[in-house]
Amino acid sequence: MSQSLQAPRGTYDVLPEQSAQRALLLEVAAEEFELAGYARIETPVFEDTSVFARGVGESTEIVSKEMYTFADQGDRSLTLRPEGTAAIARAFGEHGMHKLPAPVKLWYSGPFFRQEAPQAGRYRQFFQIGAEAFGSDDPALDAESVMLLDRILRRAGVGQYRLRISSLGSAPERRAYSDQLKSFLREHDAQLSEEVRERIELNPLRAFDSKHPGTIEVMNSAPKLLDVISGEDRDHFDAVLALLDAAGVGYEIDPTLVRGLDYYTRTVFEFTSDKLGAQSGVGGGGRYDGLVEMLGGPATPGVGWAAGIERILQAGELPGARTPGELDVFIALEPGADRPAAFALAAQLQESGVAAVIELAGRSLKGQLKQAARANALRVVIMGGERGQYDAAIKNFDSGEQRELAGLSSDDYLERIIESLTEDMQSATPEGFSE
Ligand code: AMP
Repeated sequence: MSQSLQAPRGTYDVLPEQSAQRALLLEVAAEEFELAGYARIETPVFEDTSVFARGVGESTEIVSKEMYTFADQGDRSLTLRPEGTAAIARAFGEHGMHKLPAPVKLWYSGPFFRQEAPQAGRYRQFFQIGAEAFGSDDPALDAESVMLLDRILRRAGVGQYRLRISSLGSAPERRAYSDQLKSFLREHDAQLSEEVRERIELNPLRAFDSKHPGTIEVMNSAPKLLDVISGEDRDHFDAVLALLDAAGVGYEIDPTLVRGLDYYTRTVFEFTSDKLGAQSGVGGGGRYDGLVEMLGGPATPGVGWAAGIERILQAGELPGARTPGELDVFIALEPGADRPAAFALAAQLQESGVAAVIELAGRSLKGQLKQAARANALRVVIMGGERGQYDAAIKNFDSGEQRELAGLSSDDYLERIIESLTEDMQSATPEGFSE
């Protein structure tokens, strides 16, 4: 026997018993996006590598360590998308969407790829839903974006979740602060983890994300960006908070919140759930006023977020997930029955919106009836007889009623069965139909 193959490390299969919950979550999310005026956008699963190198930033962990990058046959460098925002900002510029009435609100869902060390809740292919709004720097757009994710998490039944929020100010403040932080880190470099020490020059802010005890202690007394932002940036942040207060959305201000991507300016936020383990992030985002321009488009402010489907499902409890595969009709065959006619009947029923299957595993009639019950069929059609002298029985499992058709000719065979099935369906309660 040849060696059995498995899904690649860090990926997983969505099996039928899990797919109903996922579909329901996407339905709920799509409904909330549309209610808030967001329209769906789909971009390719791979992009020119520079979309992420320029957009997300060379110094970030995502770009420097985690991307699936490959050369195609034309020797172009392509990358499987590790996140959505940069790709959507690329599409926004490419399609001249700045000419549309602002704000332009877009949502997406699909697979993303990062070569991270797999662990519970962290995959190499994972799925996100996300929202991006371009063309306005109004703090109301930030608050609306946060509230949209809050609503989706609530509807998905995500338990024990918290919102942390901060502001990264604008580029000049951040640069000045970054220099201040670098000197602070250099002063304390003996206590820092090796990884943080190596990245002092490249990405000092990430020291706040370290789980290393010595680094955590140092960072407790580090200068905080939120303390130095001022003027319009401070007013912007206060306005976002006031809108969240007015809407009754709870949050914690967390000056150590830095997100792993370079494009953020001003508002940053993250939702975490205590129901999850070490990987407690459910979704997060922020404002990215320079991103579209960085990717060659016109200067356009924007704000958005992404949330992980796996984490929402794990921390959530979606009410009323459908039971898989309710079947209207199971078509069973007696020995010698007209199989092509049964096949045609199934196709005709399916075309008219009736869920129907025929026996395909060579079971005895008794085995077929057992299978019909296992498949949650509402009724079974038993086809029998022989050429020119067909018969059929239609049994409704709910009502226990049985309709018999005998002496059917080849000409009206299927019509008569369909007629009789239709009568049975019409006499059933509306709940008896699958939609
Ligand atoms: P990020 O794009 O890093 O801000 O991530 C946004 C959300 O996507 C996180 O809060 C997670 O829910 C989810 N996420 C990010 N990376 C992964 C991963 N490797 N596996 C599973 N979910 C992820």
